[in-house]
Amino acid sequence: MNLPVIDSGNPSSPATSVDHRRHLLDLSDEDLKQWLIDHGQPGFRAKQIIHWVFQRRVSDFQEMSDLPKALRTQLAESFRVLVTTQSAVVQSTDGTDKVLVGLPDGGEVECVLLRDGSRRSICVSSQVGCAMGCVFCASGLDGVDRNLTTGEILEQMLLLQARLEDTERLSHIVMMGMGEPLANLDRVLGALNVARSSDGLGISPRRITISTVGLPPAIDRLANNGTPYNLAVSLHAPNDQLRNELVPVNQKIGIDQVLDAADRYFDKSGRRLTFEYVLLGGVNDSTDQGRQLAKLLRHRTVLLNVIPYNPVEGLPYVTPSKASIAEFRQVLEGGGVNVKFRQRKGDDIDAACGQLRRNRGATTDPTSVHAVSPPR
Ligand code: SAH
Repeated sequence: MNLPVIDSGNPSSPATSVDHRRHLLDLSDEDLKQWLIDHGQPGFRAKQIIHWVFQRRVSDFQEMSDLPKALRTQLAESFRVLVTTQSAVVQSTDGTDKVLVGLPDGGEVECVLLRDGSRRSICVSSQVGCAMGCVFCASGLDGVDRNLTTGEILEQMLLLQARLEDTERLSHIVMMGMGEPLANLDRVLGALNVARSSDGLGISPRRITISTVGLPPAIDRLANNGTPYNLAVSLHAPNDQLRNELVPVNQKIGIDQVLDAADRYFDKSGRRLTFEYVLLGGVNDSTDQGRQLAKLLRHRTVLLNVIPYNPVEGLPYVTPSKASIAEFRQVLEGGGVNVKFRQRKGDDIDAACGQLRRNRGATTDPTSVHAVSPPR
């Protein structure tokens, strides 16, 4: 999908003076309450502030009219609400908006809003780059720079929410942008706490999905956290030999361990598991591989999301032909697996992440950006 850039800025222009104020959205509820109490205020004002930012979309403390004036000034002296910029925005004709977000240190991440019927989903990044090294993915080509902070994760949600018309309501959140959310679990969970709170974005955990390459200890931590988020595991291969090649982190884990951890998550959360399988022509799309995959999954309560590969410039992988996609589908359906095949288009937010950032870096002509169907 080629999307025209409709807005672009210079994300790396140097700041003229250093701003030492803290990022408000990095504070947990308890931290903000404590700050308020330390400043002679009742803790319930934390709720008011979060309500202003997320529900009323107000980022200027002076506009928070139910706070005492002196407190508004103290807050403005101590905190910044928004620290990121929109480096570029691309829109597809099918209602998908992809935003390249500029971070205070010059880093960039992508996030996506997609419209599908009445559904409004956002796909959010958790890290700058990615350390998992999946060989077909653009996000990890240069490794990982750093984890995003809780506030930086929340700002992606805020700026995508701000793109909605008055008649639209944000309905789903997927942690499927750049990075491995389970490698930055504390900050991701901190952001999702706000996303699901009624003064925050008010999105039910049942409408929030965390996508992972499959890190068993972190999957267990997520299960023990107790909030029933949906878990999506990126499988991409039906056996260790191939998964070790495609998803190198698998070499130290193995499919059995990943599936066991996913099963434990299912037992604890009661949420149906999703497995993702990016279909790479001639690599993991044979009928034999389809049969192996069906064998792995048919006895589990899962949805298998098959996503035809979204080609990344410079990488040797291709989208399978329509005929081989159809054949693969038949094998899985015949094998008793609950399977969905996603179209590679703007409303498919499971698709390639990291390409807008990459291509922006490679070109000075913003109109040549090739943005990709983001995840669903
Ligand atoms: N690290 C997490 C979440 C980010 S990637 C994970 O691995 O799940 C989100 C999904 O997009 C993953 O399933 C990933 O494999 C897939 N993906 C990455 N590049 C893609 C591409 N070029 N085409 C299609 N899907 C891709």
